[in-house]
Amino acid sequence: MRTKLAAGNWKMNGTRAALEELSAMATAADKGTAEVLICPPATLIASAVEQAGPIALGGQDCHDQPKGAHTGDLSAKMLADAGATYVILGHSERRTDHEETDALIRNKCRAAWSAGLKAVVCVGETLDEFEASNTLDIIGGQLASSIPDEATGHNLVVAYEPVWAIGTGKVPTVQQIGEVHDFIRSRLERRFGAGVGRSVRLLYGGSVKAANAEEIFLTSNVDGALVGGASLKAEDFVPIIDALN
Ligand code: PEP
Repeated sequence: MRTKLAAGNWKMNGTRAALEELSAMATAADKGTAEVLICPPATLIASAVEQAGPIALGGQDCHDQPKGAHTGDLSAKMLADAGATYVILGHSERRTDHEETDALIRNKCRAAWSAGLKAVVCVGETLDEFEASNTLDIIGGQLASSIPDEATGHNLVVAYEPVWAIGTGKVPTVQQIGEVHDFIRSRLERRFGAGVGRSVRLLYGGSVKAANAEEIFLTSNVDGALVGGASLKAEDFVPIIDALN
């Protein structure tokens, strides 16, 4: 059985005052069996540890090298040292804003695993690719190139995030989400074998909110969600956690 996962990506939002939101989220996490993960700005991870309780904490990116002359960057070990157990890699905003390639994401994944972090690797097609019916080709390519061979159900989570659905209020139909998640599952099984392929958790991300969470969570091979905007406030995120339980 795969443990359900409600993951929040706070992106570049929040100062220490935002950590107040964690207490109601922690209460919701305590009540259910789903795992809850919050990826705040890295500056908040160490201070979040006290208030997080059962909530796991994650970074939003890491460097692919363990240390060195990389001004402004953070290593996976630094995130782990601050209290993170996860790191999001290959988010479409990193792929776009920082021109991150699949090869770089694969290296970051290895760096994360060396530091003991679990990687949440994001894949997803742009609107042009979706409209050209290229979704599965794009996702297949990103999976093949962004994920190292050493993946396991413990160290890897895959998040399917259509770029056109992130922060836009647009969401694919549940049929479309199910088709992509089934495809990801079959690709993972083919590459890593049934044991590993079936144990990796698959999250949907892109404009998830309380109103659509339940329907999405009933979809084939959806093990939870990666949530941006609706993870910032407990009043928005708690109903999503509850929908998963
Ligand atoms: C995200 O940034 O990963 C995301 C899914 O954002 P939102 O929920 O705001 O669409």
